Amino acid sequence: MATEAEPAAGRTSAVRDWASGCLDEIVDDLAVLVDTETPSTDPVLLAAGAAVLTGWVLETWTGSTATTLGAGPGAVLQVDAPGSRDGTVVLLGHLDTVFEAGTVAARPFTVTDGVARGPGVFDMKAGLVVGVYAVAALDALGVARPSVRLLVNADEEVGSLGSRSSLVDAAAGAEAVLVLEPGAVAGTVKTARKGVGLWTVTATGVGAHAGLDPEAGASAVHALAALTSYLAGLADPAAGTTVNVGVLTGGTRPNVVADHARMEIDVRARTDAEAARVTAALAAWRPADPRVRIEIAGGWNRPPWSTPAPGMVARAEAVLASLGVAVDPREVGGASDGNILAAAGLPVLDGLGASGGGAHAEHEHVVVADLPVRIALLAGLIAPDGS
Ligand SMILES: [Zn+2]
Repeated sequence: MATEAEPAAGRTSAVRDWASGCLDEIVDDLAVLVDTETPSTDPVLLAAGAAVLTGWVLETWTGSTATTLGAGPGAVLQVDAPGSRDGTVVLLGHLDTVFEAGTVAARPFTVTDGVARGPGVFDMKAGLVVGVYAVAALDALGVARPSVRLLVNADEEVGSLGSRSSLVDAAAGAEAVLVLEPGAVAGTVKTARKGVGLWTVTATGVGAHAGLDPEAGASAVHALAALTSYLAGLADPAAGTTVNVGVLTGGTRPNVVADHARMEIDVRARTDAEAARVTAALAAWRPADPRVRIEIAGGWNRPPWSTPAPGMVARAEAVLASLGVAVDPREVGGASDGNILAAAGLPVLDGLGASGGGAHAEHEHVVVADLPVRIALLAGLIAPDGS
């Protein structure tokens, strides 16, 4: 309806223009976050990083309050910015990065030719910046919005095992969960993510001399080699199911029948049905030689997320259209904590952080000029009916 679409379009471009007007400040804030190292594996640096993040959000969001849910590696920072109408939108992010301490000293935050680089800049320090500035923009422009609850964990890159229950509890009842994981281009939204299953299989066989007494042995290595072929056969590329035996070790010497072997498996599935099929097939497998004992540990670290919240992609498309940017919905193989909250029944849209590329790699980067568009997109999703 033109009567509603036009003010909305004006609002969206006002947010973009507001963000463009303070782009230097936005980049300065991003620099501080990137240069504050937060490896998933370093509790001291994570605590210091959480303090920096908390101070910055509280200062930027007038009237907001912060609390910490849980403790230790699973601690979740929650910042609430009360809104001018009922309802709560959750912004979901993570503070941790895959880069070890000392990476910043080797390659600190830089901006060259409009491209920002530095450890964690894309995944997802710039996403946190997009989230914080989207709310700041709405408030600076006096746009009505629901309450916003920012949830930031620090164990996302290592599976969110300690934080997931806090995330689910704190997001309960949200009208939308907007995930600040990176996008690719200015119009990217992520509408589905495969689930990730992780298993470790250990095999215990019977050692023996490979030449003198081979029948006395039962090879754990041969058993897991057979399992590797079996697992490869479970993949179904057309259905989106992949199976990767990423680690396979065992045995001691060529002339010894191996009495031990171990493998680590990564399975990706687009649907719950496929996840269940692979899980059941793995559980049903038995070694050909019954003297080999196997132990299987693991499961679905994040379940498949295949259904974006109804209407949210259309909403993103409308917001972007008012900026002259085409929406670019993507289904991806990597999971995020959006999978966990979608499985909890919440309406999720993901990939709303910065545009750029190279996640988890040295060439990780963010396109600075797109940040105002990404901020405007997120603001339009937070306050679809704001005026
Ligand atoms: Zn991430």
